[in-house]
Amino acid sequence: MSFTLFADARLALARDSLAGLSTGDALGARYFAPGARPEDLAAGVLPPAPWEWTDDTEMACSVLAGLAESGDVDRDRLALAFAERCDPRRGYGAGAMLILRLIRTGTPWPVAAASAFDGQGSCGNGAAMRVGPLGAYFADSTVRAAAQARASAEVTHAHPEGIAGAVAVAVAAALAARARLDGHRPAPERLLAGIAGAVDPGTEVHRSVHRAAGLLGRPLSRVVAALGNGSRVTAQDTVGFTLWVAATHLDDYPAAIRVCVQAGGDVDTTAAIAGAVVAAYTGVGTPGGVPEPWLAAREPLPTWAP
Ligand SMILES: [Mg+2]
Repeated sequence: MSFTLFADARLALARDSLAGLSTGDALGARYFAPGARPEDLAAGVLPPAPWEWTDDTEMACSVLAGLAESGDVDRDRLALAFAERCDPRRGYGAGAMLILRLIRTGTPWPVAAASAFDGQGSCGNGAAMRVGPLGAYFADSTVRAAAQARASAEVTHAHPEGIAGAVAVAVAAALAARARLDGHRPAPERLLAGIAGAVDPGTEVHRSVHRAAGLLGRPLSRVVAALGNGSRVTAQDTVGFTLWVAATHLDDYPAAIRVCVQAGGDVDTTAAIAGAVVAAYTGVGTPGGVPEPWLAAREPLPTWAP
Protein backbone atom coordinates (compact mmCIF):
# COMPACT_ATOMS: atom_id res chain seq x y z
CA MET A 1 0.00 0.00 0.00
CA SER A 2 1.34 3.43 -0.85
CA PHE A 3 -0.10 6.65 0.44
CA THR A 4 0.56 10.29 1.01
CA LEU A 5 1.01 11.34 4.59
CA PHE A 6 0.09 14.96 5.18
CA ALA A 7 1.88 17.14 7.70
CA ASP A 8 -0.91 17.04 10.28
CA ALA A 9 -1.11 13.25 10.11
CA ARG A 10 2.66 12.93 10.54
CA LEU A 11 2.61 15.16 13.55
CA ALA A 12 -0.33 13.30 15.11
CA LEU A 13 1.52 9.98 14.82
CA ALA A 14 4.69 11.53 16.23
CA ARG A 15 2.81 13.11 19.13
CA ASP A 16 1.33 9.75 20.09
CA SER A 17 4.81 8.27 20.00
CA LEU A 18 6.06 11.16 22.14
CA ALA A 19 3.27 10.52 24.64
CA GLY A 20 4.45 6.92 24.87
CA LEU A 21 8.09 7.96 25.14
CA SER A 22 7.57 10.60 27.82
CA THR A 23 5.18 8.50 29.90
CA GLY A 24 7.58 5.53 29.78
CA ASP A 25 10.49 7.80 30.65
CA ALA A 26 8.69 9.48 33.55
CA LEU A 27 7.21 6.27 34.97
CA GLY A 28 10.44 4.33 34.47
CA ALA A 29 12.43 7.01 36.30
CA ARG A 30 10.25 6.50 39.40
CA TYR A 31 11.86 3.10 39.91
CA PHE A 32 15.20 4.68 40.74
CA ALA A 33 13.58 6.26 43.82
CA PRO A 34 14.15 4.51 47.15
CA GLY A 35 11.29 2.19 48.06
CA ALA A 36 9.84 1.94 44.54
CA ARG A 37 9.18 -1.70 43.73
CA PRO A 38 8.66 -3.13 40.24
CA GLU A 39 6.37 -5.76 41.82
CA ASP A 40 3.92 -2.99 42.70
CA LEU A 41 3.57 -1.95 39.07
CA ALA A 42 3.12 -5.59 38.09
CA ALA A 43 0.29 -5.72 40.66
CA GLY A 44 -1.31 -2.61 39.16
CA VAL A 45 -0.17 -0.14 41.82
CA LEU A 46 1.14 3.08 40.26
CA PRO A 47 3.68 5.36 41.96
CA PRO A 48 2.39 8.70 43.24
CA ALA A 49 2.08 11.50 40.66
CA PRO A 50 3.51 13.65 39.28
CA TRP A 51 5.98 11.54 37.35
CA GLU A 52 8.77 13.84 36.22
CA TRP A 53 10.26 13.19 32.82
CA THR A 54 14.02 13.17 32.24
CA ASP A 55 16.58 13.95 29.52
CA ASP A 56 15.00 11.39 27.18
CA THR A 57 11.85 13.49 26.92
CA GLU A 58 13.59 16.85 26.87
CA MET A 59 15.69 15.80 23.86
CA ALA A 60 12.81 14.05 22.08
CA CYS A 61 10.79 17.27 22.33
CA SER A 62 13.65 19.15 20.64
CA VAL A 63 13.83 16.58 17.83
CA LEU A 64 10.11 16.79 17.19
CA ALA A 65 9.97 20.59 17.52
CA GLY A 66 12.53 20.85 14.71
CA LEU A 67 10.54 18.48 12.49
CA ALA A 68 7.29 20.30 13.17
CA GLU A 69 8.94 23.52 12.07
CA SER A 70 10.76 22.46 8.93
CA GLY A 71 9.88 18.83 8.14
CA ASP A 72 13.54 17.81 8.18
CA VAL A 73 16.35 17.47 10.71
CA ASP A 74 18.56 20.55 10.54
CA ARG A 75 21.63 19.34 12.42
CA ASP A 76 23.01 22.78 13.26
CA ARG A 77 19.72 23.93 14.74
CA LEU A 78 19.13 20.65 16.53
CA ALA A 79 22.55 20.78 18.17
CA LEU A 80 21.87 24.29 19.45
CA ALA A 81 18.39 23.31 20.64
CA PHE A 82 19.80 20.36 22.60
CA ALA A 83 22.50 22.55 24.11
CA GLU A 84 20.28 25.50 25.01
CA ARG A 85 17.44 23.46 26.48
CA CYS A 86 19.63 21.08 28.46
CA ASP A 87 18.46 21.22 32.08
CA PRO A 88 21.17 19.50 34.16
CA ARG A 89 18.55 18.36 36.71
CA ARG A 90 17.00 16.04 34.10
CA GLY A 91 19.49 13.21 34.51
CA TYR A 92 21.83 13.73 31.57
CA GLY A 93 24.91 11.51 31.54
CA ALA A 94 28.32 13.06 32.11
CA GLY A 95 29.35 12.54 28.47
CA ALA A 96 26.22 14.24 27.15
CA MET A 97 26.68 17.15 29.55
CA LEU A 98 30.21 17.65 28.29
CA ILE A 99 29.26 17.58 24.59
CA LEU A 100 26.33 19.94 25.13
CA ARG A 101 28.47 22.34 27.16
CA LEU A 102 31.03 22.43 24.34
CA ILE A 103 28.29 23.19 21.80
CA ARG A 104 26.76 25.85 24.05
CA THR A 105 30.10 27.61 24.34
CA GLY A 106 30.72 27.72 20.60
CA THR A 107 32.39 24.44 19.61
CA PRO A 108 30.91 23.19 16.30
CA TRP A 109 28.86 20.02 16.89
CA PRO A 110 31.00 17.81 14.61
CA VAL A 111 34.02 18.66 16.74
CA ALA A 112 32.17 18.33 20.03
CA ALA A 113 30.57 14.99 19.09
CA ALA A 114 33.83 13.55 17.74
CA SER A 115 35.78 14.54 20.83
CA ALA A 116 33.71 12.35 23.16
CA PHE A 117 35.20 9.27 24.76
CA ASP A 118 38.82 9.89 23.74
CA GLY A 119 37.92 10.69 20.16
CA GLN A 120 35.82 7.57 19.49
CA GLY A 121 32.50 9.39 19.73
CA SER A 122 29.63 8.34 21.95
CA CYS A 123 28.01 4.93 21.53
CA GLY A 124 25.59 5.74 24.35
CA ASN A 125 21.87 5.07 24.09
CA GLY A 126 21.06 8.81 24.03
CA ALA A 127 20.48 9.07 20.28
CA ALA A 128 18.11 6.07 20.40
CA MET A 129 16.17 7.30 23.43
CA ARG A 130 14.95 10.49 21.73
CA VAL A 131 14.22 9.30 18.20
CA GLY A 132 11.01 7.23 18.31
CA PRO A 133 8.67 10.14 17.46
CA LEU A 134 10.88 11.00 14.49
CA GLY A 135 10.34 7.48 13.17
CA ALA A 136 6.56 7.79 13.56
CA TYR A 137 6.73 11.12 11.72
CA PHE A 138 8.23 9.29 8.72
CA ALA A 139 5.76 6.39 8.78
CA ASP A 140 5.56 6.49 4.98
CA SER A 141 9.27 5.81 4.37
CA THR A 142 11.67 3.73 6.40
CA VAL A 143 14.48 4.97 4.15
CA ARG A 144 13.70 8.56 5.09
CA ALA A 145 13.20 7.61 8.75
CA ALA A 146 16.64 5.98 8.79
CA ALA A 147 18.37 8.93 7.09
CA GLN A 148 16.73 11.49 9.35
CA ALA A 149 17.50 9.39 12.43
CA ARG A 150 21.15 9.28 11.43
CA ALA A 151 21.18 13.08 11.07
CA SER A 152 19.53 13.52 14.47
CA ALA A 153 22.05 11.17 16.08
CA GLU A 154 25.21 12.61 14.56
CA VAL A 155 25.06 15.91 16.43
CA THR A 156 25.96 14.13 19.68
CA HIS A 157 26.80 10.52 18.79
CA ALA A 158 29.68 10.10 16.36
CA HIS A 159 30.24 6.39 17.06
CA PRO A 160 28.67 3.97 14.52
CA GLU A 161 26.88 2.04 17.31
CA GLY A 162 25.27 5.20 18.69
CA ILE A 163 24.02 6.07 15.21
CA ALA A 164 22.88 2.50 14.47
CA GLY A 165 20.86 2.52 17.69
CA ALA A 166 18.97 5.61 16.58
CA VAL A 167 18.37 4.20 13.10
CA ALA A 168 17.01 0.94 14.54
CA VAL A 169 14.57 2.67 16.89
CA ALA A 170 13.37 5.17 14.28
CA VAL A 171 12.73 2.43 11.73
CA ALA A 172 10.91 0.41 14.40
CA ALA A 173 8.62 3.37 15.15
CA ALA A 174 8.10 4.06 11.44
CA LEU A 175 7.07 0.44 10.86
CA ALA A 176 4.82 0.52 13.94
CA ALA A 177 3.07 3.71 12.80
CA ARG A 178 2.77 2.33 9.30
CA ALA A 179 1.19 -0.85 10.67
CA ARG A 180 -1.31 1.29 12.58
CA LEU A 181 -2.29 3.06 9.35
CA ASP A 182 -2.54 -0.29 7.57
CA GLY A 183 -4.65 -1.72 10.40
CA HIS A 184 -2.54 -4.85 10.60
CA ARG A 185 -0.17 -5.80 13.41
CA PRO A 186 3.07 -7.27 12.05
CA ALA A 187 4.29 -10.56 13.49
CA PRO A 188 7.13 -9.87 15.95
CA GLU A 189 9.75 -11.72 13.91
CA ARG A 190 8.71 -9.83 10.78
CA LEU A 191 8.95 -6.49 12.55
CA LEU A 192 12.42 -7.28 13.90
CA ALA A 193 13.57 -8.49 10.47
CA GLY A 194 12.38 -5.22 8.94
CA ILE A 195 14.34 -3.25 11.53
CA ALA A 196 17.50 -5.33 11.19
CA GLY A 197 17.39 -4.87 7.42
CA ALA A 198 17.73 -1.10 7.84
CA VAL A 199 20.66 -1.14 10.26
CA ASP A 200 24.38 -1.19 9.37
CA PRO A 201 25.16 -4.95 9.34
CA GLY A 202 28.63 -4.34 10.72
CA THR A 203 27.35 -3.11 14.06
CA GLU A 204 26.67 -4.84 17.34
CA VAL A 205 23.26 -3.13 17.34
CA HIS A 206 22.41 -5.04 14.17
CA ARG A 207 23.51 -8.32 15.73
CA SER A 208 21.50 -7.51 18.83
CA VAL A 209 18.29 -6.88 16.87
CA HIS A 210 18.92 -10.11 14.96
CA ARG A 211 19.48 -11.99 18.25
CA ALA A 212 16.27 -10.46 19.66
CA ALA A 213 14.30 -12.26 16.96
CA GLY A 214 15.76 -15.59 18.10
CA LEU A 215 14.68 -14.82 21.67
CA LEU A 216 10.99 -14.17 21.01
CA GLY A 217 8.87 -16.08 23.50
CA ARG A 218 11.81 -16.69 25.84
CA PRO A 219 11.77 -15.78 29.54
CA LEU A 220 12.72 -12.21 30.40
CA SER A 221 15.74 -13.24 32.48
CA ARG A 222 17.22 -15.06 29.50
CA VAL A 223 16.51 -12.13 27.17
CA VAL A 224 18.20 -9.68 29.56
CA ALA A 225 21.19 -12.00 29.95
CA ALA A 226 21.60 -12.13 26.17
CA LEU A 227 20.70 -8.57 25.12
CA GLY A 228 21.25 -6.45 28.25
CA ASN A 229 18.85 -3.98 29.84
CA GLY A 230 20.67 -0.70 29.28
CA SER A 231 22.70 -0.97 32.48
CA ARG A 232 25.86 -0.12 30.50
CA VAL A 233 23.96 2.83 28.94
CA THR A 234 25.21 1.90 25.47
CA ALA A 235 23.17 1.50 22.30
CA GLN A 236 24.49 -2.06 22.08
CA ASP A 237 23.07 -3.15 25.44
CA THR A 238 19.82 -1.19 25.14
CA VAL A 239 18.35 -1.21 21.64
CA GLY A 240 18.03 -4.95 20.95
CA PHE A 241 16.32 -5.47 24.29
CA THR A 242 13.86 -2.57 23.87
CA LEU A 243 12.92 -3.73 20.39
CA TRP A 244 12.36 -7.26 21.68
CA VAL A 245 9.94 -5.71 24.20
CA ALA A 246 8.21 -3.57 21.57
CA ALA A 247 7.86 -6.41 19.07
CA THR A 248 6.50 -8.73 21.76
CA HIS A 249 4.00 -6.23 23.19
CA LEU A 250 3.26 -4.01 20.19
CA ASP A 251 -0.47 -3.91 20.96
CA ASP A 252 -0.16 -3.51 24.74
CA TYR A 253 1.58 -0.38 26.00
CA PRO A 254 1.18 -1.06 29.75
CA ALA A 255 2.60 -4.57 29.31
CA ALA A 256 5.63 -3.20 27.43
CA ILE A 257 6.36 -0.68 30.17
CA ARG A 258 5.89 -3.26 32.94
CA VAL A 259 8.44 -5.53 31.27
CA CYS A 260 10.99 -2.70 31.06
CA VAL A 261 10.49 -1.90 34.74
CA GLN A 262 10.76 -5.56 35.68
CA ALA A 263 13.96 -5.95 33.67
CA GLY A 264 15.76 -3.20 35.61
CA GLY A 265 18.81 -1.41 34.21
CA ASP A 266 18.40 1.98 32.52
CA VAL A 267 14.65 1.85 33.06
CA ASP A 268 13.67 5.41 32.11
CA THR A 269 15.41 4.97 28.76
CA THR A 270 14.30 1.41 28.01
CA ALA A 271 10.69 2.38 28.83
CA ALA A 272 11.05 5.56 26.74
CA ILE A 273 12.27 3.61 23.68
CA ALA A 274 9.84 0.71 23.92
CA GLY A 275 7.04 3.12 24.85
CA ALA A 276 7.70 5.35 21.83
CA VAL A 277 7.59 2.41 19.41
CA VAL A 278 4.52 0.78 20.94
CA ALA A 279 2.56 4.04 21.21
CA ALA A 280 3.26 4.73 17.53
CA TYR A 281 1.16 1.62 16.91
CA THR A 282 -1.43 1.81 19.69
CA GLY A 283 -1.99 5.55 20.12
CA VAL A 284 -3.27 7.08 23.35
CA GLY A 285 -6.42 6.15 25.27
CA THR A 286 -7.16 3.25 22.91
CA PRO A 287 -7.44 -0.40 23.97
CA GLY A 288 -3.82 -1.37 24.65
CA GLY A 289 -2.70 2.24 24.18
CA VAL A 290 -1.10 4.70 26.57
CA PRO A 291 -3.62 4.82 29.45
CA GLU A 292 -5.11 8.28 30.00
CA PRO A 293 -4.49 8.11 33.77
CA TRP A 294 -0.80 7.38 33.12
CA LEU A 295 -0.57 10.34 30.77
CA ALA A 296 -2.28 12.54 33.36
CA ALA A 297 0.23 11.43 36.01
CA ARG A 298 3.16 12.34 33.76
CA GLU A 299 4.45 15.87 34.32
CA PRO A 300 3.24 18.16 31.49
CA LEU A 301 5.62 18.47 28.54
CA PRO A 302 7.61 21.71 28.17
CA THR A 303 5.53 24.61 26.89
CA TRP A 304 7.62 24.77 23.71
CA ALA A 305 7.01 21.09 22.84
CA PRO A 306 5.11 20.64 19.56
MG1 LIG B 1 16.76 9.74 31.28
